[in-house]
Amino acid sequence: MSPPVFRFAPSPNGFLHLGHARSALLNFDLAQRTGGRMLLRIEDIDTTRCRPDYEQAIYEDLAWLGITWEKPVRRQSEHLLLYREAVERLTREGLIYPAFESRADIARLVAETEKSGSWPRDPDGAPLYVGMGKHLTADERERKVAAGAPYALRLAMDGAVARTGSLSWTEEGTGPNGETGHVPARPEQWGDVILARRDTPTSYHLSVVIDDALQGVTHVVRGQDLFWATGVHRLLQQLLGLPQPVYRHHGLVLDDAGQKLSKSTQATALRELRVGGMTPDEVRGLVGIKPTMA
Ligand code: GLU
Repeated sequence: MSPPVFRFAPSPNGFLHLGHARSALLNFDLAQRTGGRMLLRIEDIDTTRCRPDYEQAIYEDLAWLGITWEKPVRRQSEHLLLYREAVERLTREGLIYPAFESRADIARLVAETEKSGSWPRDPDGAPLYVGMGKHLTADERERKVAAGAPYALRLAMDGAVARTGSLSWTEEGTGPNGETGHVPARPEQWGDVILARRDTPTSYHLSVVIDDALQGVTHVVRGQDLFWATGVHRLLQQLLGLPQPVYRHHGLVLDDAGQKLSKSTQATALRELRVGGMTPDEVRGLVGIKPTMA
């Protein structure tokens, strides 16, 4: 039987913090314990926020923690064509449409509506896109695209869910409310998610499922903040005929105020802790992972 395949998949848009240490160490320890493979993937599709010095810092911080990974490292920015092909396929299948509202347009509409009522929101609290762009005729779409209007390519969630029927995933960890085992996927709670933009041929959701499949990842171990996004990932896997890994979501490392750590907070950045004299085993202790056996 082939060995299990784990991966840690950070975005180089800031320095790694204790939350990343928990994810990376869990993946690495599981790979070690099971005779599995450990991959590192650089999720750098957002060229406006990702930087080479942050990528370099990822390698240094992980090495300091004692983590090793297979080379070469996959960098998503080098595979944009592949993601574009998946977008084209879903477009041909009538599951993607362009939406021309900007973020500011949507924010205005939401604020206006919320003066007297409520606007539906996704599990992260962001306003749902309620499908305005779906009502344009093919002519109107073509005219706007030809005129150079910026757009987002959105998944027609109704059509996609009708195509796949109900889906679920195997959860070996827990969700925010203790969900575990056989978890029903509820992608519809995210509305018509963006899969690409005029100037970026992919999105987090799309590239993560394509890469997990291509790299043969069998176990996705990551923070609970991505628990409900797994519903969208299962849907895309099904639409694109990709295999489904097993998932293990872990609790987040919180700051003193009970908030999720941020890449912009210096205090919990691994390199600050290292410079301050902390040892890798002390980091393990802080994030609730057993010390190394060595
Ligand atoms: N790149 C994502 C992040 O930095 C993680 C992706 C995943 O583990 O699925 O939060």
